[in-house]
Amino acid sequence: MTAFPFDNSYARDLEGLWLKGLPSRASDPKLIRFNQALADELGLDVSTLSDADLAAIFAGNDIPDNAQPLAMAYAGHQFGHFSPQLGDGRAILLGEVIDRRGLRRDIQLKGPGRTPFSRNGDGRAALGPVLREYIVSEFMHAANIPTTRALAVVLTGDEVYREIATPGGVFTRVASSHIRVGTFQFFAARQDMASVKRLADFTIARHYPDSIQAPRPYLALFEAVLERQAQLIAKWTAIGFVHGVMNTDNMAVSGETIDFGPCAFIDHYDPHALFSSIDKNGRYAFSNQPLIAQWNLARLAETLVPLIDADQDTAVRLVTDVLETFPARFEGHRMAMMRAKFGLITARDGDADLVKRLLDLMQIQTVDYTVAFRTLANADSHEAFLALFAGKEAVETWLKDWRNRLEAVGTDAASAQAIMRTVNPAYIPRNHRIEQSIRAAEDLGDFAPFHMLVDVLAKPFDNQPTNIAYQTPPLPEERVTKTFCGT
Ligand code: AMP
Ligand code: MG
Repeated sequence: MTAFPFDNSYARDLEGLWLKGLPSRASDPKLIRFNQALADELGLDVSTLSDADLAAIFAGNDIPDNAQPLAMAYAGHQFGHFSPQLGDGRAILLGEVIDRRGLRRDIQLKGPGRTPFSRNGDGRAALGPVLREYIVSEFMHAANIPTTRALAVVLTGDEVYREIATPGGVFTRVASSHIRVGTFQFFAARQDMASVKRLADFTIARHYPDSIQAPRPYLALFEAVLERQAQLIAKWTAIGFVHGVMNTDNMAVSGETIDFGPCAFIDHYDPHALFSSIDKNGRYAFSNQPLIAQWNLARLAETLVPLIDADQDTAVRLVTDVLETFPARFEGHRMAMMRAKFGLITARDGDADLVKRLLDLMQIQTVDYTVAFRTLANADSHEAFLALFAGKEAVETWLKDWRNRLEAVGTDAASAQAIMRTVNPAYIPRNHRIEQSIRAAEDLGDFAPFHMLVDVLAKPFDNQPTNIAYQTPPLPEERVTKTFCGT
């Protein structure tokens, strides 16, 4: 029997906030990919384990000693409508480990079969979404965006039925915790304030220990969560990420990106970009993300009000004051990131205008967002950058203004560009590449395109001369305009 150094605080300290859940057996588990670097970071010693051993563990067939498999309770607003009971319906937490830096991390199996929260679902995951989550979450990490991580992908040997039969997979997710806005909502909706308080105390201890010192710890907790979300959504915006399903159950209070369902990266710049096939009203469109984050935070605030002050009016006023700081915080972080994307080291009046003018030109002329910034970041970029735009005149004026702006603070273009290459990725998980790797895996059992894509995306800021093809935007016929939850 394998032993991982589990120390399961959620199971131990929060009884009543979860239910026991055991993985079902997979009939013929095969290890597709294992993230050895992450395993090392987590302090998991797998040196004596074969691929077959790892496949059995990460399919849920072999439960390591000291694991305490459980399904967490949570509720959630889905597209604005409240579901009082969601919970881990196709995910089972194996346990927690303390990583090499001393941080507590959850290790969770996604797709190992039914749990007490499965309702009508099968508790299984299809291979395609599992591969997508591996690709995108590991890219987010490489791009310095807080995110849950990918430890393993296993093929179960069983088929799952989503409109058609497709191969089943299990994804092993690592998170600094799986506590969501919806976890608070589950207990608040039942007027179980004792559980909300235990959860809030646990969250403070695990994620925001400084809040304990504050005069009002639960208000400080709320402010800390809000600040992390403002930073996170600014990072998504700067890189062109559309999460696609920002329900309150898909917002982690740790500030990590979680749940990679119908997510996508914009190719040409479009603030209204929307890919999710189920998002009919564009609730989760690209430029709506900060508004939705604030809306979700208001739902979290509601659950904390009774803890913040015995007088409800006082509590509501305090929490509303914090909530209303979100737009300015988001915009501050976004501008800091956009400045870096343009190589502007210090803030100056007119920066917001300079940023907006280029984005507008990119939008009107449907220029690829990632290519445009990376081209601007490359030495001698002037001609190549201009070539991306059909209408040159306004872009030439903009380029002149940008160079003047750099000179005004004594920055030469070369050093600005060196900074720009550390924040403007050459490589992103382009939707058509993800689709191609999923098709090869599902239709042909060929995992080479998946592995290659993960490897290229591990170094998104490197030039990688032999992999230039992965920088190329999709051809018109390759463009992915719709993504599916397809869990
Ligand atoms: P998600 O789409 O991942 O945000 O999931 C929303 C809710 O649906 C969660 O409570 C999931 O556990 C549940 N769910 C999604 N897919 C399945 C499935 N195949 N079986 C059981 N529950 C599921
Ligand atoms: Mg979810």
